[in-house]
Amino acid sequence: IVSDEDAKEQKLLVALRIRPINEAELEENAVIIAHKVGQQMVLLMDPSEGPDDILRANRSRERTFIFDMVFDHKATQEEVYVSTTNILVDGVISGYNATVFAYGPTGAGKTYTMLGTDSDPGIYIRTLNDLFKAIEATSENMDYTVSMSYLEIYNEVIRDLLNPSSGFLDLREDARGSIQIAGITEVSTTNAQEIMQLLTKGNKERTQEPTTANKTSSRSHAVLQVTVKQKSRVKDINEELRVGRLFMVDLAGSERAAQTQNHGKRMKEGAHINRSLLALGNCISALSEKGGSRGQYVNFRDSKLTRLLKDSLGGNSRTVMIAHISPASIYFEESRTTLIYAYRAK
Ligand code: ADP
Ligand code: MG
Repeated sequence: IVSDEDAKEQKLLVALRIRPINEAELEENAVIIAHKVGQQMVLLMDPSEGPDDILRANRSRERTFIFDMVFDHKATQEEVYVSTTNILVDGVISGYNATVFAYGPTGAGKTYTMLGTDSDPGIYIRTLNDLFKAIEATSENMDYTVSMSYLEIYNEVIRDLLNPSSGFLDLREDARGSIQIAGITEVSTTNAQEIMQLLTKGNKERTQEPTTANKTSSRSHAVLQVTVKQKSRVKDINEELRVGRLFMVDLAGSERAAQTQNHGKRMKEGAHINRSLLALGNCISALSEKGGSRGQYVNFRDSKLTRLLKDSLGGNSRTVMIAHISPASIYFEESRTTLIYAYRAK
């Protein structure tokens, strides 16, 4: 069991969110096969093995996975935010970097968790609100500037979601060796409603295509980049700025290209997505204590996403991964591979 104190110290936190079953799934006679057990465990049952398969080993029919936290259909947006991401806010205003990922197949609830709805906003808005509050509470002797950018990485190319007509953008290293996106729109506003509008509009600019699975799947990683610069008001004006950066990433659908029987363009996308998700999983698992102690080599250059996040994964940075699944039997295979990926990241 992870106490609040432990959670504060943990560099990598992997959570699982199981969304409620929906009408469409019920209409297909789907049953619930993913169950939360206790605070940290999920039980996934294999629906292909019916009650007649008693001779087959019972243990092959269900599998349990343990995460730092498991949320099911009862979990509210507030709960998910408070237990996973709220703990990053203090670090970011003190100059540390952090990254939050939503991982999982299309339709599993990633965008719901990150962006949410107007009436029930997700992690983006809740984090920014708390960030502004925290700054207000501490800014007696400090000057803070907060800026944000919203971009997508599609087929290894970066596009500005707040200014989609600006074309492809490049990654550069600045004089201090930190990664910057050349020419990206940077917005600074503390008005939550305005931010929600910008993000909702930006989200509609994401590269989305209907796949043969007949859902609108996001083929890109959407990245909300928040930069907090800090300067002492009382000390020497030339004092170094402290900079903290937070990335909140709504990853591309993790379903495999093969599963949706895609060809041509879709197939190429699938390959790019798989490659970057694999690169990400490799980086995270290499950085986690388990991997780190084996002295694994971390190759950030394997994808645009990991290059962009280079300064915000590992070191003093903190990482939160929220994996998402549907509880429905018709998505058993997607859920199984998602659980394996997220479990491995740890
Ligand atoms: P993804 O971004 O992973 O493709 P979405 O976030 O778009 O998936 O979720 C698919 C649908 O399910 C949306 O209509 C969304 O509103 C709904 N949904 C997802 N998660 C939840 C949840 N925890 N509670 C209620 N509705 C949800
Ligand atoms: Mg989505």
